[in-house]
Amino acid sequence: MAEEAEKEISTFEDFKLNRQLLNAIEEAGYEKPTPIQLKAIPIIMGGHDVMGIAQTGTGKTAAFLLPILMKVKYAQGTNPRAIILAPTRELAMQIEEHITLLAKYTDLRHTAIYGGLGPKTQIEIINNGIDILVATPKRLMELYLKGELILKEVKTMVLDEADKMMDMGFMPQIRQLLEVLPRKRQNLLFSATMHPKVVELSEEFLEFPTRIEITPQATPVETVTQVLYQVPNLRTKIAMLEHLIRDKEAFNRVIIFTRSKKNAESVAKYLERKEYGEVRSIHGNKGQNTRINSMEAFKSGEVRFLVATDVAARGIDVSMVSHVINFDVPFVYEDYVHRIGRTGRAENEGNAITFANESEMYHIRKIEKLIRMQIPELPMPEQIEIFPTPFDEQQAIARDIDHQKRAENPDFKGAFHEKKAIPQKPVKSRRDPRTSFWQKTKKKKR
Ligand code: AMP
Repeated sequence: MAEEAEKEISTFEDFKLNRQLLNAIEEAGYEKPTPIQLKAIPIIMGGHDVMGIAQTGTGKTAAFLLPILMKVKYAQGTNPRAIILAPTRELAMQIEEHITLLAKYTDLRHTAIYGGLGPKTQIEIINNGIDILVATPKRLMELYLKGELILKEVKTMVLDEADKMMDMGFMPQIRQLLEVLPRKRQNLLFSATMHPKVVELSEEFLEFPTRIEITPQATPVETVTQVLYQVPNLRTKIAMLEHLIRDKEAFNRVIIFTRSKKNAESVAKYLERKEYGEVRSIHGNKGQNTRINSMEAFKSGEVRFLVATDVAARGIDVSMVSHVINFDVPFVYEDYVHRIGRTGRAENEGNAITFANESEMYHIRKIEKLIRMQIPELPMPEQIEIFPTPFDEQQAIARDIDHQKRAENPDFKGAFHEKKAIPQKPVKSRRDPRTSFWQKTKKKKR
């Protein structure tokens, strides 16, 4: 039946959505449904449980929101009838924005609740009556246990980015929640990857689900062009970054990903000092308001560079990102897919450029296995000076290679301790190898 529906449907009108929604869709500028929307909307509207494997950037949010908006229809009673769980506040906010956009011509009441802010205002909004609630798992349970939230009228439950929820350890809260929700309800689960933990969760959470897979497991969105450069060290990575962003026209809205908060902060400060354009950084140490403001400024185009860590970047919904630059390779391999999904959103063309040193190349090989493709590699442009790797950084790289070899083969004795990484110029420094370059550039400037 689903297949039949799929064949016939090609426009939003074909879904038999109400006029209010169709007007909002038109105003949002969505001309035709995306593949996940074509597949998922009829099935969800038919009341079935769904397990959707779709990356961010595919239009998955509207794929579950539109049927929910149809079902919940208009404001009624005081308690939520649909709940959407998201792993991070950024994603929760983004979903809430999507609802605002699509529910514009309805009288539906909706809000997002998440940690990092006091719950008072959130409680007030809920007490005034709510139809659709977006929430992070901890805050939801907190308000429920306080008696501020009545869940007995919930008829639809969505888990978005379920793989990230599992990564972030939200299983206990989700289990607790499943205990208190009414048994009879529709469940939808979305995840970018088919991680075994997600499969396990889907078995607990879904009833005879229809599985909709929009791209093969963890395949990067097709509209993103990927490139890899082997860049030996931090100093050369900076030189490479500076070389690329000199092209202001092409690199007009760039997200630079780093693995640590410290690197995010350092790269952002460096770009700022060099005055390459407006820069903001978002990572776990930034307060909620700063993060929101940075995102807004980046969205509006006022800011050229957003430097981000993986967790902070979840849920970034900005179209027209020209480039994603992986300054560091992520060690959680799925994050590579999430990172590059930030460019090339909704059928725009995007570019993802990755810098990898010798040890990071090990991780790249594993990422390539996950995405089932080889990331095309380019030689470093000739004009880029290849700086020697400082002793400390060489040691850190050698240590990571050892670590990976050991993980692959427990009998591996470790070359690092035998060879002790031969430096070109053994300048011994007591500084942290990852900060030494930044410290030096700071000193020069001041
Ligand atoms: P998502 O995968 O839900 O994160 O959506 C990615 C982006 O695509 C968001 O900016 C949406 O507003 C946009 N989008 C969703 N559906 C459509 C559509 N049918 N046509 C064009 N853009 C869309």
